[in-house]
Amino acid sequence: MKFEDAFFEFAAGKLNQLPPSDVPEVVFSGKSNVGKSSLINKILNRKSLARVSATPGNINFYSLKECRLVDLPGYGYAKVSHAEKLRWAELVEGYLASDRNIQFVVQIIDIRHKPTENDLHMIEFLMESRFPFAVVVTKSDKLNKTQRAKQLAYFDELFRDENGESLVHYIPFSSVNGEGVDVMKQIIQSIAQAHTAQLQAQQE
Ligand code: GDP
Repeated sequence: MKFEDAFFEFAAGKLNQLPPSDVPEVVFSGKSNVGKSSLINKILNRKSLARVSATPGNINFYSLKECRLVDLPGYGYAKVSHAEKLRWAELVEGYLASDRNIQFVVQIIDIRHKPTENDLHMIEFLMESRFPFAVVVTKSDKLNKTQRAKQLAYFDELFRDENGESLVHYIPFSSVNGEGVDVMKQIIQSIAQAHTAQLQAQQE
């Protein structure tokens, strides 16, 4: 799969502008400044595609041959008006509630910080949803070994079942040293391969 062939497809500001749902979608969600564009750029092996092309506040679509990466608008801007927050919620909720071929959701949090209310809300939503998902803990290069172990243990404690098992899969990631990039690429690749296999089966 050629990640670097990805191109910016479309920025949707309204639900009726979404491109046709013709390939599986891998969705990226997180608060603004968490490192979402850096993560997408790193996966696509492109320096600045996501940062340069994306329209803030919109859903940005990046197209690969076999799938799409979908960049949800970053939330948590302090200065955004109430009306803009409502528009954001309507757009994101509408997208997630649609019958699109959403195959995986990546929720991004900063390894150094406590998840915000919005982060927790999103993770809870994902746990109750039909979507396979993982939480990427980004900027892992910013912590030393001890701090990192402490933070990962803390995240693991947040969502547990009655047997004490963590309910969330966390993927440490760094767009600086490349930690976690291969894991993310494998997730996307397996989704793309399943789609290609399905198309072939339909043709036979
Ligand atoms: P976005 O608003 O979520 O798209 O965030 P950006 O990708 O623009 O990143 C916000 C800031 O965090 C920028 O200054 C990035 O250089 C920095 N950043 C993003 N990811 C990492 C990372 O993995 N490690 C470090 N050290 N800095 C990062």
